[in-house]
Amino acid sequence: MLKPRYLTKSRFKLALSCPTKLFYTRKDAYEDSSETDSFLEGLAQGGFQVEELARMYFPEGIPILGEDWNYDKLAARTEELLKQENVTIFEAAFLYDGLFIRTDILEKKGNNIRLIEVKAKSIDSSTHESFINSKGNLGWSEYLYDVAFQHYVIQKCHPEWNIKLFLNLVDKSKRTTVDGLNAHFRIVPNSELRTSVEVTPNLKREDLGESILTLINVEEEVQLIFNSNPRDPDRSFMDTVNYYRDHYQQDIKIETPIGTHCYGCEFKLDVPPAGKLSGFHECWMTHCSVL
Ligand code: SF4
Repeated sequence: MLKPRYLTKSRFKLALSCPTKLFYTRKDAYEDSSETDSFLEGLAQGGFQVEELARMYFPEGIPILGEDWNYDKLAARTEELLKQENVTIFEAAFLYDGLFIRTDILEKKGNNIRLIEVKAKSIDSSTHESFINSKGNLGWSEYLYDVAFQHYVIQKCHPEWNIKLFLNLVDKSKRTTVDGLNAHFRIVPNSELRTSVEVTPNLKREDLGESILTLINVEEEVQLIFNSNPRDPDRSFMDTVNYYRDHYQQDIKIETPIGTHCYGCEFKLDVPPAGKLSGFHECWMTHCSVL
């Protein structure tokens, strides 16, 4: 039986960077350098450490565990936990009409939800006002579209919820009050050479000193995305999501004009190993031949 093809959060982000990549991703035939470099990537970004640190401030949080690929089971486990009036969940999973997401931290108090997306990015909370500048342009759009996608899927699953949206970031205006904080979160490769973090056993919140993280409300920014979809104003946000989902489900390539955005494309292989294809060269051959 063929596995269902869901547009996940990471595939949605991939499509935002270039919709053609949806066709190449997770296919044996196409080499993907982002998969082979995932450990180094994680190391460079420090995102996993920040996520573990953020979780420490929600000691009541319950992680959704299970096989990463079994979306139905992960979503069912999440829904089971959500029957509780008040609950905090790490990696809560939601599945709706071919769309699948997992949230970093989801805090539920009745029908009031805080959706918290943790990023290894820093901001000065003492001066930050908005990611929308004075001309109405949206900054940090990659991160904000990520939150918008999560909000969209969760709200479809639970229309009755009142959802508040936050980015959890490193606050440049704060200082660590304990030495060697990062030594408590050791980055290690797991069995699949992906990044995971080993936290010092029995580490407690009070061992971390003053928090160096800050929660930034991003509802205004996400509303802008829903209202005007600044990355593709000719199409609504919902239509963009459905467009990606439908093409991914049916395995239809979305042709994208080649250009400077191709620089650094993860599907570029200068010398493909036997049996492997370079998506980058496929794009450039196709588009150069029609120029
Ligand atoms: S080569 Fe360019 S058009 Fe093709 S997948 Fe990569 S970024 Fe997209």
